[in-house]
Amino acid sequence: MTASSSQRIIADHPEEECAVFGIYDTAGDAARMTYFGLQALQHRGQESAGIAVDDGASIQVKKDLGLVTEVFSEQNLTRLEGVAAIGHCRYSTSGEVGSVQSAHPFVVQVGSTRVALAHNGTLTNPGELVDYLENAHVHEEIHTDSEAAAYIIAHETEKSGSVTAGIAAAMQIMRGAYAMVVIAQGALYAFRDPHGIRPLTAGKLPGGGWAVASETCGLDIVGADELRDVGPGEVIRLNKEGMTVTQGTAPAHRSTCIFEYVYFARPDSVIDGRTVYQSRVSMGRMLAHEAPAQADLVLGVPDSGVPGALGFSQVSGIPFADGIVKNRYTHRTFIEPTQALRRQGIRIKLNPLPSVIAGKRLVVVDDSIVRGNTAKELVQMLRDTGAAEVHLRIICPEVKWPCFYGIDTAARGQLLSANMDVEEARAWLGADSLAFLSEAGLIDAVRGYGPTVDATTDRCTHDGFCLACFNGEYPVR
Ligand code: SF4
Repeated sequence: MTASSSQRIIADHPEEECAVFGIYDTAGDAARMTYFGLQALQHRGQESAGIAVDDGASIQVKKDLGLVTEVFSEQNLTRLEGVAAIGHCRYSTSGEVGSVQSAHPFVVQVGSTRVALAHNGTLTNPGELVDYLENAHVHEEIHTDSEAAAYIIAHETEKSGSVTAGIAAAMQIMRGAYAMVVIAQGALYAFRDPHGIRPLTAGKLPGGGWAVASETCGLDIVGADELRDVGPGEVIRLNKEGMTVTQGTAPAHRSTCIFEYVYFARPDSVIDGRTVYQSRVSMGRMLAHEAPAQADLVLGVPDSGVPGALGFSQVSGIPFADGIVKNRYTHRTFIEPTQALRRQGIRIKLNPLPSVIAGKRLVVVDDSIVRGNTAKELVQMLRDTGAAEVHLRIICPEVKWPCFYGIDTAARGQLLSANMDVEEARAWLGADSLAFLSEAGLIDAVRGYGPTVDATTDRCTHDGFCLACFNGEYPVR
């Protein structure tokens, strides 16, 4: 097993598949702007990074394994000339892990049509994609669902002469989750699956031009003003003539991934008009109402548990404290073969502050529990540091089902809550109490309802979000 594949298997949070970025920059510095955009989106994937640039006559690409700053240098960025560019950083859930062949963007050619594509999400009908390509006599070696999508778009564009029509035709074939960016024929295209599962947003550059990104933090870094989210099933074309929006395929029941708000997205991002940071604070507020605790301090597990802890503190009146310090230079939690090494693994990442914790009854707020190994070690570490009690509060419901839409949540047999009820999980984790936010509480928090909302008249429905990893109700087959 390679180092990369072992990392993939042992991560204890759901892992985001990747981020996409695109730009049409009339100043002609598209590659450098894409480099900045990818740096802002690096949290969504650290396995590989890539940029493709279209100068109107040809498309060049540079991609490799590693972080954005490891793959790109002043020298190779200078060589990527053009006004339209797309970029990608990847954490794999399909294709070969740790392989540069699976790195995006994919640049493909069918006849005279050349297309570069980057994808966030997972296509769930690979058999149909392969059938299509065989029938279309595209016999290239294809490594991932995303590469298949690039060939289908190129083939359909070659038939119709229009990239927008080619994308719309491909949308009739592709199933699953996709937020994609494409460059072809000197323009940038951005489009999103009919359920809008993965996020994608567009902005306007101050000096003229456009940018699109998985999250608004990618727009902020290049100075773009947020214009609009790419709607479910929409295709947006951006070039020197401006922005053209068409409905590539009919929108379906909206099912935006709610885990973006819980864990994946950066707190300073806004997704579909909702602030991620404020959503997390509201989750903590809801949790304090649903599952109060008698304690002296509220701590958040950095980073995504901290806003939830602030919200819990606001409603409960229990003081918030900074009691767990995070090492910012590690990415993953490793399941090691022995208890001592497991403890070492988590200590590399998180370190409790004895001066804050010793003798205190703690509410500890975290974003989610997947396998539970990190939470178990954290509880023990807090006890070893002198905590009198540890009450775990989780700002989302129990993760019981795997994700098939671009997130690596592990198999069902490895999910703690798929195999234990709350009391069994509490005992296994060694906590004094354990509680998860309800589905209704989570949705209310993301929608901006306060915890005082009248539950009988104004409780929101599940309309609008994917919650499949909590309830097994998958929006796409
Ligand atoms: S199953 Fe969970 S992680 Fe996957 S898209 Fe749905 S809400 Fe997001």
